[in-house]
Amino acid sequence: MSIARNLLLRASKSPWLARQMTQRAFARRAVRKFMPGEELGDALGAAATLQSAGIGSIITRLGETLTGERNTDEVREHYISAMADVARRGLSTVISIKPTQLGLDSSMAECGRQLEALAQAAHEHGAFIWMDMEDSSYVDRTLELYERVKSVYPKTGLAMQAYLYRTPKDLERLMPLRPVVRLVKGAYAEPANVAFPKKADTDAAFVELGETLLAASKEGKAMPIFGTHDMNIVHRLVGRARSMQMTKEQFEVHMLYGIRSAEQRALTADGVGVRCLISYGSNWFPWYMRRLAERPANVWFVVKSTFA
Ligand SMILES: Cc1cc2nc3c(=O)[nH]c(=O)nc-3n(C[C@H](O)[C@H](O)[C@H](O)COP(=O)(O)OP(=O)(O)OC[C@H]3O[C@@H](n4cnc5c(N)ncnc54)[C@H](O)[C@@H]3O)c2cc1C
Repeated sequence: MSIARNLLLRASKSPWLARQMTQRAFARRAVRKFMPGEELGDALGAAATLQSAGIGSIITRLGETLTGERNTDEVREHYISAMADVARRGLSTVISIKPTQLGLDSSMAECGRQLEALAQAAHEHGAFIWMDMEDSSYVDRTLELYERVKSVYPKTGLAMQAYLYRTPKDLERLMPLRPVVRLVKGAYAEPANVAFPKKADTDAAFVELGETLLAASKEGKAMPIFGTHDMNIVHRLVGRARSMQMTKEQFEVHMLYGIRSAEQRALTADGVGVRCLISYGSNWFPWYMRRLAERPANVWFVVKSTFA
């Protein structure tokens, strides 16, 4: 892992830095590159613009490991009312949640109860629900929760991380459920006994897992979503899907708001299903530091924003 990436990921865990940064005007300006605003209305406004360009959206309110500070009932109610807003506006936007937002740190049972309530609300709207994958200490519990929710609510998807050595086995375990998988490279600082330290190995694992998912999708046994801005990988997997005569409904590409926007439009024009994940909320610091860590050159953008 590069020194810059390591430093940024360590900084993402500092409450002191979080307090400093979220109060500074330059940091709030810089974060706008990756999020349209802190309010739900900002995210839904951006979702409407994307929808008119044929790009779908996913929304997520930032705020992980907030147990104790924020009641999980409040988080659940926020998302339930967000789903109602989405329906009222005629949007096809769906929600994505981090299990720790729903209390995974304190109670698996509580988190499962809240997740099921959200999946039920999504079901009533005919909508989808996504579960993010957090750091490796949560993977066992998140897989168990996914199995529980997916067996009752088929329109539930899970992010899986290509950088983890365990992911091929985890994917095999989920296959009987016909999983909907958002394959991502992985955004957290993980030790070398858990995840590939070299980016090239993660990239290779992504392609291999992507091909496994495409083969399963072809047989109706999984739905693959490629959650990456790596255009080499995207073109390779889209090309593979096309060589297998797969349709738009059999795979999708998801990217983050503000990253590779032109490519999101180009893929859409080329007939690929694309969705954009839009974040909002005031608790953006750890998430923002992970975005900087993905591309340390982004730090220069922050520096420039200081003088804007
Ligand atoms: C829809 C979606 C959902 C995600 N959900 C999760 C999750 O649940 N759990 C999880 O651990 N991770 C998640 N991630 C993050 C993911 O793990 C990676 O950290 C992130 O996508 C960067 O890796 P990459 O695949 O884009 O490839 P990289 O090889 O890192 O990047 C490829 C190219 O994309 C561009 N790029 C990538 N990141 C940035 C950036 N921040 N700013 C500007 N340009 C950039 C650069 O040009 C770069 O060269 C998600 C990502 C996406 C797109």
